[in-house]
Amino acid sequence: MNEFDLIRQYFQQTDTERADVALGIGDDCALLQPLAHHHLAVTTDTMVDGVHFDERLTPADLAYKLVAVNLSDLAAMGAVPCWVSLALTLPSSDQTWLSEFGQALAHQLRHYQVALVGGDTTRGPLTLSLTAQGQVPAGQGLTRSGAAVGDVILVSGHLGDAALALNQHKLTPLTASQCARVEARLFRPTPRVELGLTLRQLASACIDISDGLSADLNHILERSSKALGGANASMSTVSLGACIDADKLPVSAEAVSVLGEQGAAANALNGGDDYELCFTVPATRLNEVIAAGKKANTPVTVIGEIVADGGLQTYYLGQAVDWQAQGYLHFSD
Ligand SMILES: [Mg+2]
Repeated sequence: MNEFDLIRQYFQQTDTERADVALGIGDDCALLQPLAHHHLAVTTDTMVDGVHFDERLTPADLAYKLVAVNLSDLAAMGAVPCWVSLALTLPSSDQTWLSEFGQALAHQLRHYQVALVGGDTTRGPLTLSLTAQGQVPAGQGLTRSGAAVGDVILVSGHLGDAALALNQHKLTPLTASQCARVEARLFRPTPRVELGLTLRQLASACIDISDGLSADLNHILERSSKALGGANASMSTVSLGACIDADKLPVSAEAVSVLGEQGAAANALNGGDDYELCFTVPATRLNEVIAAGKKANTPVTVIGEIVADGGLQTYYLGQAVDWQAQGYLHFSD
């Protein structure tokens, strides 16, 4: 079976019709018609077997996660997802695998009204790579670089369950139903597309949480400090700080039951793969952000504040804690 046969047979189910696709799969390139006065937001994420996922994920899970991690990046920029192209490396042309993956991919793309406009398949160790493109009105894209002193820091959803699912073998065993709930957060995260759109012209900075809240919030501090410092500032010069009230971090009942309240908070601070949004907003606009969260049907929680210096500082019930150094598994004993 050649490359074109594979794509045609299994990916023709991805039938999202978009008027802005002038020419879809089947030629050397797709031809797309972007909106006037918009920026294209473009992102690529790759998932490698044994590195980014293991045998617990079904072909359908992989399709969901691949779309979710890419759309999460678009959400963090406030972009409307439009088009994706897929590069798939497979050890063999496994019909069952392709069928399950193709169906789930089609379902997920239809849900977000995104068109698959290109693809490439090669033989090799299982690797999935997706390039997603979205559109945002020029000048309205959310970036990591606009946070300012006094801004409130918020996160969407709740944090830490994906890390819990990844590390469950090190922990007190979860019950079957707890395990299913936290694994769903790892295998099929929800990209916060709606929320990202409502945060345009409202959030001063935004990032999606892939590496863990502390790591990703540090990216906001670095980029925003650099923006404040002007063109001559070094990337390593962080002038802004953030005070996080770790007791306010939104966590699941599952995390608290396994890690305890402090452990769940530390896990929420340092665990990765949540694909929630972390964003900052001027304190005067907090009410608008709460309304935006309601409009997007997405919980948002205030977790701290941007301050003038000191880097990322974490407090638990008012006491300074150094959980970034310790790691959350400290609390599981
Ligand atoms: Mg990202």
